Amino acid sequence: DSLGPTITFGEILVEIMATLPGHGFTEALDLRGPFPSGAPAIFISQCARLGGQAGIVGCVGDDDFGRLNTDRLRADGADVSAVAISPDLPTGTAFVRYRPDGGRDFVFNIAKSAAGQIAMTPEARALVARAGHLHVMGSAFAIPHLWAVLAKAIPAVKSRGGSVSLDPNLRKELMTPETSARLAQVVAQCDLLLPSGPELQLAAGLPDATEAEAVAALLQKVPEIVLKRGDQGATLFTREGRLDQAAFAVTEIDPTGAGDCFGAAYLTARRLGLAEPLRLAAAAGARNVTVLGPMEGAGTLQDLNQFIAARI
Ligand code: ATP
Ligand code: MG
Repeated sequence: DSLGPTITFGEILVEIMATLPGHGFTEALDLRGPFPSGAPAIFISQCARLGGQAGIVGCVGDDDFGRLNTDRLRADGADVSAVAISPDLPTGTAFVRYRPDGGRDFVFNIAKSAAGQIAMTPEARALVARAGHLHVMGSAFAIPHLWAVLAKAIPAVKSRGGSVSLDPNLRKELMTPETSARLAQVVAQCDLLLPSGPELQLAAGLPDATEAEAVAALLQKVPEIVLKRGDQGATLFTREGRLDQAAFAVTEIDPTGAGDCFGAAYLTARRLGLAEPLRLAAAAGARNVTVLGPMEGAGTLQDLNQFIAARI
């Protein structure tokens, strides 16, 4: 970890959730929130809580939703020096309601919020110049102007000996020729890929491939792939072989953020040289789903070790 912090770029949001399942927001509802959120922010929170150096490039509004996030990330020990404060746009928001079948309906304000204003500020440039690892979120490919910033940051971090990870985190509906090309470009440069379900095939550029075919194709380009399988656990693939990790049995309260906590714990364990990174990651993902709020269940190393000890 001596190379410098793990950094990421992307949306910092508050999440506000309906307290009862149902369909959408077309009637008055009881809501709970705001909770600090945004996939990149959840990732950085979990890195920092585990004791890894971590920082985020983002933009919030000059409002309580922004301060809720920056206060939280700072308290976790994350570097928020490259979180800009927009003078005129509000912090991004996501309203979510769970459907009875486990699906979700959202009302988002991201691209036209402060989150859409992310830019290569002097503070962002300084953070990139110190970074030892860059984690790229596929969701960032859909934020206007962010690609130009990322396309510069990736080679900058790699040229100083740093590494790059990618969570494709792209729904099929967000795949356009442009986002597909960006995805392929980052896959070709990354050291660690963290797909979930069908993102494996999307990352391979082989939508109809089997898991084994997609993994074989990707291992030509990426040395380390960890496939997330929700409550079915996860699998590490390398050119040497595979390692399967069962999921920890938990009662799921709020599934949002599991993948980000999992990825952050895996990466941070690898960078810090902690024992059994895959098991620690599975504990981080499982623990996070037991708590309401996208990053409220992110654990410290002590929390995760206790979580594991109580279950083996
Ligand atoms: P997200 O919804 O945050 O995008 P994801 O799809 O990227 O998540 P998941 O596979 O849902 O990632 O979760 C990541 C990991 O967290 C899983 O591989 C698993 O180890 C753990 N996990 C997730 N959900 C559960 C659960 N219900 N029970 C136990 N472990 C879980
Ligand atoms: Mg995901």
